[in-house]
Amino acid sequence: MRPAAILCMAIPAAIAGECVAAPPVRALQVPILAYHYVKEPNPESADMEAQVVVRPAAFSRQMARLSELGYQTVSLFQLWRALNGEGTLPPRSIVITFDDCCESRHLALSVPILRQHGFVATFFVVVESIEKSDKFSSWRDVVALASDGMELGSHSVHHLNLLDLNKASLREEVGESKRVLESKTGTRVRFFSYPFGMRSPPIQDAVTEAGYLGAVAMEPGIVSDPSQALAMPRLAVSGNYKLETFTRLLTDSPWVRPSR
Ligand SMILES: [Zn+2]
Repeated sequence: MRPAAILCMAIPAAIAGECVAAPPVRALQVPILAYHYVKEPNPESADMEAQVVVRPAAFSRQMARLSELGYQTVSLFQLWRALNGEGTLPPRSIVITFDDCCESRHLALSVPILRQHGFVATFFVVVESIEKSDKFSSWRDVVALASDGMELGSHSVHHLNLLDLNKASLREEVGESKRVLESKTGTRVRFFSYPFGMRSPPIQDAVTEAGYLGAVAMEPGIVSDPSQALAMPRLAVSGNYKLETFTRLLTDSPWVRPSR
């Protein structure tokens, strides 16, 4: 089908006012998916975990659906560069993010599925969890993630509500987590994910002062403008979603109109 703009140009000027308006130029629009854990839910806390735990089989089907829809994954840094006119993205780009990184189980289940589709993702690491909990991955695993082409971001040191912190503590959660992550992994950490999605102008200032390029939020929406860098909206994928719901999130939600 010919675009409306071309049809309009063929119509004499006298009746041009009646022609169908050309669709607006489609700006860059990239969905960012927000996941937490890919694993089998704990039967004792399945209801509580429903929002944040996606079963491996469901995650696998969702990644296959992304492939079928023609999506290609990009990192937040690639997205940031494109938003700032420093590069181009594939026509159907998408960013996959994981908060609360990284339980060992989660990595063991999610990374092979991502690899199967040639996908990359951004893993937001809680520094304390890597250093203190047996349940979580080691720094060696986190380094391996980066070596595998995955992007690392910070999800703070202790995963506290940043709104409750004084300025010094806020700086530590935001800035120290970046420094530790970079020194432990030898990888540049450019993006922050607000714990619990809690943010404010002083928190965003701390993110900028610490040297991040941007941060992801929990408000639903789609990224289309560099002014969103400090609060990039995401589309949260709930563990309750059927495949149809996941698909509609990308094809028929109020926020997303995929680029063509
Ligand atoms: Zn979190």
